Amino acid sequence: MKKLALHWKILLGMAIGVIAGLFMTLVDGGMQLVQDWIKPFGKIFINSLKLIAIPLILAALIKGVSDLKDISKLSKMGTRTIIIYVMTTIIAVSIGLILVNTIGPGKTISEQTRNEMVENYSGSTQKYQETAIKQKESGPLQALEDLVPSNIFEAATSNRNMLQVIFFAVFFGIGLIMIPEENGETVKKFFDGFNEIILKMVDLIMLAAPYGVFALLASLVVESPSVDLFKALGWYAITVVLGLVVMIIIYIIIVTLYTKKKPSFFINGISPAQLLAFSTSSSAATLPVTMERVTEHLGVEEEVASFVLPIGATINMDGTSLYQAVAAVFIAQAFGMDLSLGTQLGIIATATLASIGSAAVPGAGMVMLVGVLGYAGIPEAGLALIFAVDRPLDMCRTTVNVTGDAMVSMLVANSVGKLGNPAIKNWDDNND
Ligand code: ASP
Repeated sequence: MKKLALHWKILLGMAIGVIAGLFMTLVDGGMQLVQDWIKPFGKIFINSLKLIAIPLILAALIKGVSDLKDISKLSKMGTRTIIIYVMTTIIAVSIGLILVNTIGPGKTISEQTRNEMVENYSGSTQKYQETAIKQKESGPLQALEDLVPSNIFEAATSNRNMLQVIFFAVFFGIGLIMIPEENGETVKKFFDGFNEIILKMVDLIMLAAPYGVFALLASLVVESPSVDLFKALGWYAITVVLGLVVMIIIYIIIVTLYTKKKPSFFINGISPAQLLAFSTSSSAATLPVTMERVTEHLGVEEEVASFVLPIGATINMDGTSLYQAVAAVFIAQAFGMDLSLGTQLGIIATATLASIGSAAVPGAGMVMLVGVLGYAGIPEAGLALIFAVDRPLDMCRTTVNVTGDAMVSMLVANSVGKLGNPAIKNWDDNND
């Protein structure tokens, strides 16, 4: 294992996990064995990543903002980041809409299959709908209100409150820039050191990544639904995955055009984070690794990465928005509805907002999908249609979400002259 690059080790762990999971489904009591003795290691691995997400955001952002030494630089970078994030999301939704309208996956579902699925899964989707209803009941400015925590310690107790922690960290960083340098020196040094320690922790956790993903995939395989369901939803899944692949190609083209780096440089640099995103279905859990890969392997300077990436993990979800557009139209098609052009344009806006509002955790995109369905007048019962294949698609869309964040961090860094040569060369991965 020593000589292999990290992404190969992770891929190997994933492959062995899938094979072990498949094998265990054939063995008597195998499923229970995996759940009792393998699944917990996957959970421990994800927990260890989540554990450092909030401290990382705090340390990295405070360090990042204070390193800028100038508020005008911060607002320049902030504006660029948000504009590029919104633009890539709109591109993603549009691609999703074009594909789903061209392929028409919902038309392949018979009325009988549709009714069966609604009946079988409506219980499972209820909790998603309830969460969505709670969100819908709040006023139009609720999201803005939620941005400002009333207590930073309370905010930092949940990974769902990342935006609040980001708000505090940026605010704190701005305060740090504004006081005389010698007064803030100790605090700045503290956060510089804190940040370095967290990044070292990421390195240590990554040593366990191949084993962690093995456990995650083996338990996912034994818990996955029957192959028949995948057949019924095959065209829908193909449409989503095709859209996601197109997004990755677009990212590679943009990186090549704007930063003059080779596609292999980008892919080799980011692939371990992609594989983790795929295995964990959580941009938040992957954030520490994305940060490490982007700074140490893609050449983005820390002051840019530590600002762009935490924000991206929370608000930039191109994969999620694409999936939401495809899913909404798919459900409409399955229910025999024709969506007008106006409604579809509205889906671009609602899916963009819904992806911004989705938490960076597994399944969040499906909760926010309820809002998109509600807007377009598509029956919410349709959630039951896509529920069974949501997890594998979540894995794929999270991979795109994380890749999109990394791509934007390179663009922003390039535009402010902060894209250099990585400290660690990609091809030297084995010495991580
Ligand atoms: N799991 C996704 C993420 O964390 C969000 C979603 O689409 O459910 O990026």
